[in-house]
Amino acid sequence: MIPSVSGPPSPPSSGSRVQPRDIVELKALAERQPELAPAAALQIDLIEAVRRVQGRITTPWIEASADTLNVRLSGGQPLLEFAQIAFDWNDVRLLTRQVTDVLRRHEVIDAATAAALHAVGRSPTLPDVVRGWFEQHPALEIDMLDEVLGWAARPYLQRTAEVLQQRVSFDRWGRRVCPACAAEPEFSVITMNGDRQLVCGRCHVRWGYNAIACPYCGNDDRTRIRSMATPDGMYRVAICAPCGRYIKALDTRKTTRPLLLYVDLIATLPLDAAVMKANNK
Ligand SMILES: [Zn+2]
Ligand SMILES: [Zn+2]
Repeated sequence: MIPSVSGPPSPPSSGSRVQPRDIVELKALAERQPELAPAAALQIDLIEAVRRVQGRITTPWIEASADTLNVRLSGGQPLLEFAQIAFDWNDVRLLTRQVTDVLRRHEVIDAATAAALHAVGRSPTLPDVVRGWFEQHPALEIDMLDEVLGWAARPYLQRTAEVLQQRVSFDRWGRRVCPACAAEPEFSVITMNGDRQLVCGRCHVRWGYNAIACPYCGNDDRTRIRSMATPDGMYRVAICAPCGRYIKALDTRKTTRPLLLYVDLIATLPLDAAVMKANNK
């Protein structure tokens, strides 16, 4: 099951199989905005590869009590340690290969890069490479390696983060990195009452954060943060002058559907382009 799927069940596709909502919405997006069709098709292939593995993941056992976890959180320590994540290395290898093949098929990477990524997937040192990626001190310089490992590790990170969230709440975390896996946010959600939640790019956990401040450098001077929105107001972007980075958001006050991260990342590609254009002026 894909955790980001929520709300009413997806409508059946033309085939007999019921597709997850992310895929249904990505297909609809590609029809509405043909310029996004190639990116949507790539995203669908990546989701499909991960879904096959997700179906056979067992629920990890985490020994720490809610009290222990809460003490850690109030001390500002993210919860997940590499050793706690129950990777099935055969499946991680399989996913590394499949995700690489998808990227190659969609011509995101060249043949030499694909060969280098395949070699990482086959190598006996793969667990060390994944650890370096998880702990954010990567040892290898290969184009798209972070992305490939992100997709290959996500089922395990997500499942472990889900188990943690059944025990503790991340509502009051308020920091700039993910309370589960310590990664930076990749997206955000503006809630019905105008609060902001950040969304982890790795494990997709969400946590509350100051609605104005930059989640990358902490700048909270409103006059130094510029904001743009799509014409329908559904998506916004906040661009921080001091650090030059920006974060996109789904404004749930302007839409009837919840965040579908895989879809919203693609649907907001025109916003990335707009930010790039504005920065080059
Ligand atoms: Zn995370
Ligand atoms: Zn900033």
